[in-house]
Amino acid sequence: MYKTMTPGPTNVRENVRMARSLETTNPDIDPAFCEFYKETCDRLAQLMYTKNNVYILGGEGILGLEAACASLTEKGDRVLVIDNGIFGKGFADFVTMYGGEAVSFVSDYHRPVEVSKLEEFLKKDSDFKYATVVHCDTPSGVLNPIKGICNLLASYGILTVVDSVAGMFGEYVNIDESKIDILCGGSQKALSAPPGLTMLWVSDKAIETMENRKTPIASFYANILTFKNYYKEKWFPYTMPISDIYGLRAAVDNVMADKGILERHEKIAAATRKAVLAGGMELYLEEGYSNTVTVIKVPAGFTDKQILETMKEKYNVMISGCFDILAGKVIRIGHMGENANKEDMKNVLDALTKTLKDIGFPVKCNMAEIFLEELNK
Ligand SMILES: *Cc1c(COP(=O)(O)O)cnc(C)c1O
Repeated sequence: MYKTMTPGPTNVRENVRMARSLETTNPDIDPAFCEFYKETCDRLAQLMYTKNNVYILGGEGILGLEAACASLTEKGDRVLVIDNGIFGKGFADFVTMYGGEAVSFVSDYHRPVEVSKLEEFLKKDSDFKYATVVHCDTPSGVLNPIKGICNLLASYGILTVVDSVAGMFGEYVNIDESKIDILCGGSQKALSAPPGLTMLWVSDKAIETMENRKTPIASFYANILTFKNYYKEKWFPYTMPISDIYGLRAAVDNVMADKGILERHEKIAAATRKAVLAGGMELYLEEGYSNTVTVIKVPAGFTDKQILETMKEKYNVMISGCFDILAGKVIRIGHMGENANKEDMKNVLDALTKTLKDIGFPVKCNMAEIFLEELNK
């Protein structure tokens, strides 16, 4: 088995794996499961500083993004797609798939969206039903200021959909303070449960908007409204993946018990960037680094494959390359959730240092040593 240090799926703690092996009941008709599900949702609400509705859907993180768009979009609706990364741009596909008109606000992929520039744009055109924005756009690792962005959008009466799949639990998210109408999360990133579940935090205003549609939602599986009365009616739209939810709950409880989680992400991320730069490598971003992932340029004259294969085969550590416009251009180390610990990150940087030496890149130092020095400062 390789040590997985990718930006999701992340390592899964033993108590989460054990929870997934517990004896199961019939989640459709056993009221104890409905209570357990509700309690888990309540804890997720608490972690995001809100009393908004929370639903856990059976399906990987992408389902949440699609469900938000499917449930809000009617034919002809204008939707603002904030695009400074691959996931950001990707929202346009979901919008158009459900008949909406996606209008892009494109901004430099090497840095966060500037709220003032978005404001200039909105002064000219603000006729949007909702807007989509990605918190941490994982392929580049850029972290967008969702509080400023969503408060601005809300001031124009535009609903906000935020993908924080790769941000939440590694970066601070406060739904009420940020005025987020639909927040999308996934099980397999900083929460460190295995892939398979998506979590949605949905404001009453977003629910009302869905209920006031003129046309029905063009999906069953991606229809958020099917969950609306689950607790009152003790009924789920489909059989809930009970073992996945047992695991998720253990992961949620791990996060709740981990008071220093955000500070640890911040320290690990800062020390990683420092080490990588000291080794003579370059970061993809110019500013606005998320504390959940470090994205490093593939040095000129080398390939991502050389680095990734050597690390995997010789040193047993798996990090990621990238896809779409960043394919072949960067390598990515995920230090989110369970991955965000000193020992694993020391090992990954040690393996990267050795790998660079093996392939002939003039690495300037042992990056693991610099990392430890930084952490111990
Ligand atoms: C991981 C991730 C998702 C979920 O999609 P995957 O299929 O796991 O890639 C959605 N948004 C972002 C920003 C992610 O990092």
